[in-house]
Amino acid sequence: MLENIERIKCLIIGSGPAGYTAAIYAARADLKPVMYTGMQMGGQLTTTTEVDNFPGYPDGTDGTAMMEDLKKQAERFGTEVRFGLITSVDFSTEVGGIHKVIVDEDKTIEAETVIISTGATAKYLGLESEQRLIGGGVSACATCDGFFYRKQDVVVIGAGDTAAEEATYLSNICNKVTILVRKDYMRASKAMQTRVKNTANIEVKYNTELDEVLGDNVVVGVRAVNNITGEKEVIDVTGLFIAIGHKPNTDIFKGILDMDETGYLKTKGKSTKTNVPGVFAAGDVQDKEYRQAVTAAGTGCMAALDAERYLGSLV
Ligand code: NDP
Repeated sequence: MLENIERIKCLIIGSGPAGYTAAIYAARADLKPVMYTGMQMGGQLTTTTEVDNFPGYPDGTDGTAMMEDLKKQAERFGTEVRFGLITSVDFSTEVGGIHKVIVDEDKTIEAETVIISTGATAKYLGLESEQRLIGGGVSACATCDGFFYRKQDVVVIGAGDTAAEEATYLSNICNKVTILVRKDYMRASKAMQTRVKNTANIEVKYNTELDEVLGDNVVVGVRAVNNITGEKEVIDVTGLFIAIGHKPNTDIFKGILDMDETGYLKTKGKSTKTNVPGVFAAGDVQDKEYRQAVTAAGTGCMAALDAERYLGSLV
C-alpha cells in the first residue's frame, strides 16, 4: 500500500472557477498543487450554455470552453489536474500538521495545505421533462441565463430568498415572471416579499406546483397544478427557473469542519481559513449569497494566497 501514499504541499479539491484560480496562484507560488476534479469536471458552469458575465470575454463564452481554458491556464504553471473523487478526509488539527485525504477509497494524499472548492449543487425537482430540458430553457441560475429570455415570459419555482431574488432580477429583463409557490405563503424575507409584491410584472401563484415542462427540445410552456383543487393550467413560457435551493458539497467534511446550519463551510473573517489550520475554503462551498463564477474565482485566489502565507509562517 506504501506506493499509494503521496506527500504534497497543496491539494485542491474541486474544479470550478474557485479551484482553477486557486491552482493558478498556488502553482505560480511554487506550491506544486495537485487538483482532484470531482465527478463533474469544471463544476456548475459546464451545465450552462453561454457565460456572458465573466470579465474578459467581450463576446461571451461557452461555460465548458471557459472551464477548459481555466484548466489549461492552471496546467501551464504546473498544476497536476487529476480526475478523481475525494471519499474521506482526516485533517490534522495541529498548526503545521499533515492532512490525510483518501482518493477513490484507494489512494492516500498527505497534504500540507488543502483548498476546498467543491462547490454547491442546485437542487432540481427531478421531473423527467425538467431534466431533459436543462440547457434548453430550464435553468437554476437567473443571473447566468436570464438574459436569454429578454422580453419573454418565464416561470420561477420556489418560495425562499433565492426564488424572490431570481424573480426580481428576471422582472427587469423579461416581459412577465410567474412564481409558483407550493404552499399558501412564501418563506422569503419580508423585504424580499415586499419587492416581489411591488413589482408589476411578477405574479405569484400560491398552492401551485409544477406538473410538467412542455416542449421537445426547448421549453414552450409549463403545466402547473393547484394542489388544493387539482386544477391544471398551461402557462406559455420560454424559460423555467428552478430556485428551490442549493446543496453545498460538504458531506465528507461533516463533524470535521465548521459549517452553518445548511452545510456551507464557515470561513474566518475576510479570509478563506476554516477552523482547521492549513485547510481553506473557496467558492460556492462557503458562499450562499453571491454564487458567481467571478466571486468564486476571487476567493480561489484568496485561498491560494492564504495557503502560501500559512506555509510561509511555519518556517
Ligand atoms: P430555501 O431552502 O430557503 O428555500 C427553498 C424554497 O424552495 C422553499 O420555499 C421551498 O418551499 C421551495 N421548495 C423546495 N422544494 C420544492 C419543491 N419540490 N417544489 C416546490 N418548491 C420547493 O433556499 P434558498 O435558496 O431560497 O435560500 C437558501 C439560503 O440562502 C437561505 O438562508 C436564504 O435566506 C439565503 N439567501 C440569501 C440571499 C440574500 O440574502 N440576498 C439570497 C438568496 C438566498 P417550502 O417553503 O414550501 O418549503
